Amino acid sequence: MIVKGFDLTSATENLIVESIKANHFPHAVLIEGSGAAQRAALADKIALALICGNKETVPCGECSDCIKASHRSHPDIIYREPDSGTSAPLYKVESIRKIVEDCYVLPNEADVKIYIIADADKMNISAQNAFLKTLEEPSAHSMYILLCSAKEAFLPTILSRVTLFNIGEEEREEASEEAKNAADAVALALTQANEYEILKAAGVFDKNQKLLTETLPLLEEIFAQALRIKLDAAVDEPTGTPVTLARTLSSAALLRLIDSAEKIAAGIKQNANLNLTIVRLCTCFRSAVKEQE
Ligand SMILES: [Zn+2]
Repeated sequence: MIVKGFDLTSATENLIVESIKANHFPHAVLIEGSGAAQRAALADKIALALICGNKETVPCGECSDCIKASHRSHPDIIYREPDSGTSAPLYKVESIRKIVEDCYVLPNEADVKIYIIADADKMNISAQNAFLKTLEEPSAHSMYILLCSAKEAFLPTILSRVTLFNIGEEEREEASEEAKNAADAVALALTQANEYEILKAAGVFDKNQKLLTETLPLLEEIFAQALRIKLDAAVDEPTGTPVTLARTLSSAALLRLIDSAEKIAAGIKQNANLNLTIVRLCTCFRSAVKEQE
């Protein structure tokens, strides 16, 4: 069988192609890393290759499965996104239960139903536990492609049952002491109900875009670790700033912070104005922790 459309210079995509060829594509995968658009694009490519009915070349691009899938109108490729609510978008337990019930219903046209679950890390602990059922008692004709920016938000029970594909493999240089200190200062400022503290901590980024660029991923990591502690996921010897955050902030606030940090980092990549970015950081972070009160 020939599998088309993948980037064979990427080790991850090579692995995916090989497993599709061998008819051994895992029943549940987690695509982690890079940007949301890249994750979604890879999920689309996988779904297209899996849903195509051609025996020799997938996707053939000609069968009705291919045509519908490429228009995102195939009834057996099911796209899910977090429910939008009053605060940050989060999967409701009921939405996850619907997926769980639906996966036992036979596919409409293809041999398999493929669920593409965007921002799967936006499931809280009850939603994750509800989802776990599909992994523990898999239906023979359902597959799951979960997408997330960082796998840290998942329970170990979920992680142990999915195959992880990391697509954000760019080498990250060891962060400077200055960036580590800045990340700690901003994170700790968020635990104090005082806007001035955040502004003060963010002051170090003034005229220093390099420092801000370096600090944002560290902040995201602190938020993600705090969330892990909160969800009782395994963390080796939790210490320092994440522990303080886990004690003070709700899981929803931490998820909103992760989301804000990602968006601000994306803004910098698109050359957003530095001063405005610093203001945005203060406002977004502040409202992320505020709503829970
Ligand atoms: Zn086809």
